[in-house]
Amino acid sequence: MRLNLPIRLRLTLLYCLVLGLSFVAFFYICDLGFRRSIETTVNEASRSNLEIVRRLLGNAAPGGEQHVQKELKELSELWANGALLEVSDTKGAWLFQSPQFRDAVPPLAPATAERMLFATTNLQALQYRVAAETVEAGGERHEVRVAVPTEPFDQALDSFRLIEKEALPVLVLLAALLGYWLSGKSLQPVNRIMQTAEQIGAQNLSLRLEVPPANDELRRLTETLNAMLGRIEDSFRKVTQFTADASHDLRTPVTVIRSAAEIALRRPRQAEEYREALRRILETSEQTTGLLENLLELARSDAGVVELEMRPVDLNQHVRQAQEQGAALAAGKSLSITLQAPESPTWVRADEVAIHRLLLILIDNAVKYTPAGGNCEIALWRNERQAHIAVKDNGIGIAEEDLGAIFERFRRADRARSRKTSGAGLGLAIARWITETHGGTIRAESVLGSGSVFHVSFPISQES
Ligand code: ADP
Repeated sequence: MRLNLPIRLRLTLLYCLVLGLSFVAFFYICDLGFRRSIETTVNEASRSNLEIVRRLLGNAAPGGEQHVQKELKELSELWANGALLEVSDTKGAWLFQSPQFRDAVPPLAPATAERMLFATTNLQALQYRVAAETVEAGGERHEVRVAVPTEPFDQALDSFRLIEKEALPVLVLLAALLGYWLSGKSLQPVNRIMQTAEQIGAQNLSLRLEVPPANDELRRLTETLNAMLGRIEDSFRKVTQFTADASHDLRTPVTVIRSAAEIALRRPRQAEEYREALRRILETSEQTTGLLENLLELARSDAGVVELEMRPVDLNQHVRQAQEQGAALAAGKSLSITLQAPESPTWVRADEVAIHRLLLILIDNAVKYTPAGGNCEIALWRNERQAHIAVKDNGIGIAEEDLGAIFERFRRADRARSRKTSGAGLGLAIARWITETHGGTIRAESVLGSGSVFHVSFPISQES
């Protein structure tokens, strides 16, 4: 089961759990240490008591049993901490036995002279630590047992446990409060990010999130979000620009069509004049259709809905077809279009329609921007990994400062010069999109007044 708790609460719970478990472990270890130390202290007390008894038995004169019994009694009375004593001979006859021992049978295996045995037992509702030893004295073996009460130590242990029990919930509560405060503090920058993010909209996309000073994950998150906002702002600006340019470029031909029709209808005219007006209207409508198709193509590519049918395509074949169509375009302009291509096929993985479109855009431009009498050369060659196409003309060329922007939408190098030619500045943007979706590259070289070369490269396909 997943709990959808807020991060702050989750952090607090985790903090509590970790600290709670640490406290329990700490108390357990203390308890264990305490008990060990009690056992050692009590065992030491028993050991020294047994040592005294051993010496007393060792010093006894033979046959002085009564004297020994008296001394044992005095000794046991001397033990201020309430320790008990019993001494018997091997036949089980008592030399001495403290009264409390009388009804109790300490659960001990017979001790030996080398081995002292210890056990904990209850004698008359009190807990005792019993130590047993066999002592040899005056040719006799004696079983000696000494019991030391553990009561004072047990009381100390009980008080310690009571403190543990009372302290644990308080400590866990403190941990919870501390955890809540700490997580709140560490989430503060997130709240600030949220507040700023809520203010960002289409109207103020230039707003950025405040970058926290500490070099941590939040700083990286903020920087990443700011970079993302930058990209969104850039795209938004491009879309706005695109819409403005598109509306402008569509308004011009519509105005041309409308005024041509209005002028023609203003008064009765000769049939030739009507024909001329209709011819202008038709020409402008065709240009508008081309522009609309290009706009649609770019909008579809932006939306990612263009489905390219990628399969092995022979570039030779397409370059030849494009040259023939280019020659038809250049027919009325006395422009030569030549082709240099290898005999063997050049296979690339591509969408046929898109490749054809790309080639036509480049050849159409070469024809458009090269004055009559000029020439256009198309070349295709390949190396092991790439196929290269170059479309070269000796036309008007492009100024260096415009060269970097001609692949952007609605960018026309030097509008004054381009005005004479039809076009909205979308062809090269489409050419770049086609090349890039095929994993290729496109670039232009040009010298103003001398001509231009457009280079396109595609990865070679191993299939054919
Ligand atoms: P357009 O519809 O204006 O031709 P493009 O995107 O195809 O749009 O080209 C963008 C601009 O690049 C053109 O307006 C023109 O200024 C310049 N350009 C493109 N090809 C050539 C070329 N072969 N010679 C000179 N200028 C060119």
